[in-house]
Amino acid sequence: MPQPMLIGGERVPSVTGEYFEVYDPATEELVDRAPMASEDDARRAIAAANAAFRSWRHATAHERAELLHEVARKIRARTDELAALLTREGGKPLVENRDEMGWSAACFDYYAELQRNARGRVIPSVEPSQLALVLKEPYGVVAAIVPWNYPILLMSWKVAPALAAGNTVIIKPSEMTPLSTLLFAEIFDHLPPGVVNIVSGYGATVGRELVVSRDTHMIAFTGSFATGREIARLAAERVKRTHLELGGKDAFIVAEDADLDVAVPGVAWAALLNAGQVCTSTERVYVHASIAQPFTERLVDYVKTLRLGPGSDPATDIGPLIGERYRRKVEEHVDEARQRGARILAGGRRPPQLARGFFYEPTVLTGVDHSHRIMHEETFGPTIPIMAYRDFDEAIALANDCDYGLGANLYTSDPKKVKQYYEEVKAGTCWVNDPLTDNDAGPFGGMKFSGGSRELGEEGLEAFLETKHVHWDFSQERKPWWYPYGRTGAAE
Ligand code: NAD
Repeated sequence: MPQPMLIGGERVPSVTGEYFEVYDPATEELVDRAPMASEDDARRAIAAANAAFRSWRHATAHERAELLHEVARKIRARTDELAALLTREGGKPLVENRDEMGWSAACFDYYAELQRNARGRVIPSVEPSQLALVLKEPYGVVAAIVPWNYPILLMSWKVAPALAAGNTVIIKPSEMTPLSTLLFAEIFDHLPPGVVNIVSGYGATVGRELVVSRDTHMIAFTGSFATGREIARLAAERVKRTHLELGGKDAFIVAEDADLDVAVPGVAWAALLNAGQVCTSTERVYVHASIAQPFTERLVDYVKTLRLGPGSDPATDIGPLIGERYRRKVEEHVDEARQRGARILAGGRRPPQLARGFFYEPTVLTGVDHSHRIMHEETFGPTIPIMAYRDFDEAIALANDCDYGLGANLYTSDPKKVKQYYEEVKAGTCWVNDPLTDNDAGPFGGMKFSGGSRELGEEGLEAFLETKHVHWDFSQERKPWWYPYGRTGAAE
């Protein structure tokens, strides 16, 4: 029996009787079916979230903290089950999905505590009888629209701060990975009905309805640039607040003073984690010309030791891509580079030993330039294209020669280079000798086409609050500057 949705505290099957199928990308076998929500289901979830908002907004910080800590506790208690299901529908190695559950639980704990310190301010008033307050209040109903690559983590980065801020939420998981999110109906079942709702279905129908409805008040979206731009366009019709976390094309600069024993596995990790399907995957590598040859040779040797396979196998380093359409895009990028003179030093093909599943071998290329798609479009696969640079100014210019600005990486032991890099690179996160770490207390998000929003940290809570200024005169006196002019004596 497929997992039902969650609307207004009720577990709801598909009202239309329609379901869609979810396949294991490692075996291409059916995992389960999920309810195909209609626009009507979206509207029912919106009504339930609005009804629940009336009381949830007044829950005390203490009450919210208890309930959010309980979400974290339940995620930890069910990590094995959730991670196993996520591996089946999403393909990531089990160890990575267990990490995803741990990070998600930590995010709920973090915002449970941070919201206790959320505050507006009392500002100097313009009259002695006045109190002037700057208040922070929730938007109302937040639609959380989530992609497939980190479905639980990216849902948590939105839902935890949105609830902490006093909003109610409707979660729309990706149609590729709805199953583990639907299981979260049980993780949220101690919350008041309607505070969290989950509707599974397609972006163009149920997702779009959440965006255009007059009764959702903020859209928190993570996904591709193309969908983000469409959502921004639709939301602009109602001047609705959007929070957009979009794609990336992260650069990794390896300076001549980098320790190659660390830089080689570090670059491989940054490029190949989740088969390169991380928004901050390294997709372009710039290596100083003096070390380009040893770096590349060692990287090729290292990459060839990594094992491809299903994420459920503990021996697997790299799982499959999420689907055939996504694998075709990786192939197109590699094939175009190859046809235009790039050298494929490792990979560049589907693994012959894995007949089923959407696998692609980790691929190292040289002889690329910025006219190749693999150097300027998001590839979202296990590719490591390498270019050599001659001086650090050139490396920075190459890193910035891109529409995206999500993250960037540098390996160096030279503090001067570090300073120039973090001052000049246009990216929301700059990692130095420390690829792809996250910190709940630090804001995460992009610049340029990667979107300008921030999740996590204080900014991640602030994003779900809007500002209100209260002028309160407790004297209740008539003001001397009111009409009629000239007769009160004040306006002369
Ligand atoms: P996607 O844009 O195809 O889909 C994301 C979500 O949007 C899905 O739930 C989908 O159903 C929904 N959607 C699609 N059309 C919609 C519409 N018209 N209205 C409302 N909702 C709609 O992205 P994806 O393929 O699931 O995810 C991969 C992308 O996400 C990559 O580009 C990756 O870089 C990006 N990403 C970004 C971050 C970040 O934090 N910046 C993190 C992870 C992934």
